[in-house]
Amino acid sequence: SQTLLLILGDQLNRNSLIFEDVDTKTSHFMMAEVLDESSRYLSSKQRTTVFLSAMRHFAENCQKDDLPLFYYSLDKRLASFSDALDHHLKNTPFKTIRCVLAGDYRVVKEINHWTNQHDISIEWLPDQHFIARQGEFKRWLSERKQPRMEYWYRQLRKERAILMSGQSPVGGRWNFDQDNRHAFSQKGPDALAETHQFKPDKITKDVIKAIHQYLPDLPGDLDEFNWPVTLNQAKQTLDDFISQRLAKFGDYQDAMWLDQPFLYHSRLSVALNLKLLSPDEVIDAAIQAYERNEAPLNAVEGFVRQILGWREYVRGLYWTHKQDWLQMNALNARRELPQLYWDAKTDMTCLNQAVMQVLTYGYGHHIQRLMVTGLFSLLWGVKPKAIHEWYLAMYVDAVAWVEVPNTLGMSQYADGGIVGSKPYIASGAYINRMSNYCQHCRFDPKQAHGEKACPFTTLYWAFVDRHHDLLSQNPRLGMQVKNWQRKSKSEQKAIRKHAEKLHRQLP
Ligand code: FAD
Ligand code: SF4
Repeated sequence: SQTLLLILGDQLNRNSLIFEDVDTKTSHFMMAEVLDESSRYLSSKQRTTVFLSAMRHFAENCQKDDLPLFYYSLDKRLASFSDALDHHLKNTPFKTIRCVLAGDYRVVKEINHWTNQHDISIEWLPDQHFIARQGEFKRWLSERKQPRMEYWYRQLRKERAILMSGQSPVGGRWNFDQDNRHAFSQKGPDALAETHQFKPDKITKDVIKAIHQYLPDLPGDLDEFNWPVTLNQAKQTLDDFISQRLAKFGDYQDAMWLDQPFLYHSRLSVALNLKLLSPDEVIDAAIQAYERNEAPLNAVEGFVRQILGWREYVRGLYWTHKQDWLQMNALNARRELPQLYWDAKTDMTCLNQAVMQVLTYGYGHHIQRLMVTGLFSLLWGVKPKAIHEWYLAMYVDAVAWVEVPNTLGMSQYADGGIVGSKPYIASGAYINRMSNYCQHCRFDPKQAHGEKACPFTTLYWAFVDRHHDLLSQNPRLGMQVKNWQRKSKSEQKAIRKHAEKLHRQLP
């Protein structure tokens, strides 16, 4: 019987199991661009372009190798994966589908549902892209009372002998965070190397045209489109990071600076998440730079931790709670997402910068996501599902397995402590310490009420006030409650009043 080998948009990996032992007499490949994945489940113009252009380049590459591949592009106007499968089944019968596990549980459910209805069997293959093998995280988790990323990361390092010298971590420590997290001095970052310019080729231009034609209302714009969409470009992005940015990655991992969207960050998440690059090769490249003395250990360990630690950890957690994430709302947050998330229209310089960047490039680095857009939403009390849908739509690297635990867990604490042990809350003072945004802002991060009050600071205190029971229970946050309680009654009243005013009228 015929087997359909289905390749989804974030599975652009020629080393995946779907390419193993393919009998082209009895099986064929299929890829499809479907409208729902951009409009019903919103995806910005930048994100949609990266996905579709990378898919088309990948398909072209497979076809060059004479692999039998059916490709349905946007102009077929197929609404959903179910539609695409219906359409394909009519023309090319098959009895079985094989597909590497999708990166979004919703898609797994949709395809399972379709196969049930059509009496077709489905085989989900393990995703070999990741470092942890199928079942490994589950086993690890089952042996832990209080699972934390740090221990998972150490285990992977030991087992895979990554940055190890014998049984000990290279440099004698697992973690160099205390050497990292610097802010820039007043003069800001040194001149940064130019990023690669990947001029849109014919395929990308066709995608852009199709988006304007079939999906014109998607948010964001495409004037500055410059993401890697081929294997070659992904490798160039990796080389650029290793040679130009890695050395300072650790020091300035958490720093922000006006009009500097990328700083020393790798911009590799999109190439990794589309599976153009493997985490192993990215980690190897960083370790080789360390061994050649081209990057210090704090930078290399910091970078490896993000990929081997956080990336693998959040993936494990996503699949552990796959059914439940979208119902989580531990803080009972009920507000709508403020309009400024869609147009960057705000006097708050930090938010204006972070959102403008997302609209322009589909990118924000981790601290912008966590401590600007994420923090504001947390303090404001946005419904977890609404802020999740925004993150999933707007960032080029967003795929549910990584976006969901980061947004609903790490950033919004909707999970009540699965990803992190406490809500990441801070006032404007944090943003002031880590950036020069406040120097270019009409608000004052030190003021919590009054005309110049920084909304982050006001809302931070209002959050501590609102959630003081929860925060008091956490040894690391109890101090913040005490600081609130130390304020005079009239000060507390003025802050509460100012917070209410902000909720009526956002600046
Ligand atoms: P760098 O700073 O250069 O980091 C190197 C790599 O480490 C990244 O490419 C990424 O693969 C990995 N990494 C770093 N932090 C994390 C993390 N917390 N979780 C998983 N991987 C990590 N990352 C995504 O890939 N997709 C998302 O949809 C996504 N959504 C996020 C939403 C929120 C609210 C937050 C706080 C973080 C989110 N992240 C997401 C994690 C992180 O912010 C991005 O991976 C990173 O900013 C991508 O830029 P970069 O490649 O320049 O990263
Ligand atoms: Fe953001 Fe407040 Fe600083 Fe303005 S003063 S940039 S709103 S933290």
